[in-house]
Amino acid sequence: MDSEILRLKKLQAQSPNKAKVPYGNTQKPNNRAHYAKNVIIVTSGKGGVGKSTIAVNIASGLAQRGFKVGILDADVYGPSVPRMLQVEHERLHWNSLDQIVPSENFGLKIMSAALTTPSPDTPLIWRSSVATSAMIQLLDDVAWGDLDFLVVDMPPGTGDSQLTIAQELRISSAIVVTTPQKVATDDVRRAIRMLQEIKAPIGGLIENMSYFVSPESGVRHSIFGEGGGKYLSKEYGVSLLGEIPLDPGIREMSDDGLPVTVGGSDLQKSFFMGIVDRLLSSGQFSLDGGAVKEC
Ligand code: ADP
Ligand code: MG
Repeated sequence: MDSEILRLKKLQAQSPNKAKVPYGNTQKPNNRAHYAKNVIIVTSGKGGVGKSTIAVNIASGLAQRGFKVGILDADVYGPSVPRMLQVEHERLHWNSLDQIVPSENFGLKIMSAALTTPSPDTPLIWRSSVATSAMIQLLDDVAWGDLDFLVVDMPPGTGDSQLTIAQELRISSAIVVTTPQKVATDDVRRAIRMLQEIKAPIGGLIENMSYFVSPESGVRHSIFGEGGGKYLSKEYGVSLLGEIPLDPGIREMSDDGLPVTVGGSDLQKSFFMGIVDRLLSSGQFSLDGGAVKEC
C-alpha cells in the first residue's frame, strides 16, 4: 500500500499548516481543534461495543439540538463513520485555500482517513507514525469552520491513537462505552484508568447492548449479563449516561447510514437523545455566551 503513503505525503506537502505546531504532551496538550468550543471523544478499551454508533448519534443529536457539529473518525484501521453517515463513496477534495473540504450529511461535517483512499474498501496499511500524522492533518487542514462540538470516534485500545488525541486536543469530555459482560468491562477499566492517568475529563459511561426486549413477548433478556455499566460507574465514580438496548433496528440503521436520532422510532431516538440531553445539562461544556447556535 505504498501508493496510499505516497498519496498522503503528497497531501501533506500541499498542506498549508504543515509542521507549524509541534506535537504536544498529555500534561500540556495542544489545542489543534481551536475552531471547536468543545471536544468530545467516544472511546472504550474494546472494539465492537458501539463506539461509532454512539459517536454518530451523539453528533447527530447535538446537531438536532441546534449546535454546529463536526465528527472526526479517528479509527484509521476500522473506519465506520463514513458508512454510518452515508458518505462512504465521497472522496477527498480541496478548497481554494488548500484546505480539505469535509463531507456533510445530517447537518454534520464529517472527516475520516477512509475518505482519502481511492475506494471505500482500500485498507490503510500504515505504521502508527503515519496514522498519527494523518490524524493531525485531519485536525489541522480540514475546513471545519467554527464548531460548537467536535466529536471524535476513537479506535479501541489504550495506545498510540489515544495518546495522540490526548496530546493534541483539549478534551472537554471523554465518553466511555462498555457492554455488560466482564470480558468487555476488563478492557474498559483499562481505558478509564488511562483517561484518569492522562487527566482527561471523563464525561460519563454508556452501557450499550444492555438488554434485549423480545418483540413477541416483551420480555427483557440480559444477553450479555447485567450491571457492568452500573458497576464500573460506581467503582470509578463516573456517571452512567445511559443504557442502550441491543436492538436489530439500531444495527440496520447503522448499516444503512441513517443515524437512529434521525430515522429511529421515538423510543429508539430517546435512548440517544436522553444521553445528549444529559450531556448538555451536565455542565461539562462551554455553551453560554457564544455557542454558535444555528437558529
Ligand atoms: P465500535 O465502534 O465500538 O467497534 P460499532 O459502533 O461499529 O462498534 O458497533 C458494532 C456493531 O454493532 C455495528 O454493526 C453496529 O451497528 C452494531 N450495534 C451497535 N450498537 C448496537 C445496539 N445497541 N443494538 C444493535 N446493534 C448495535
Ligand atoms: Mg468504531
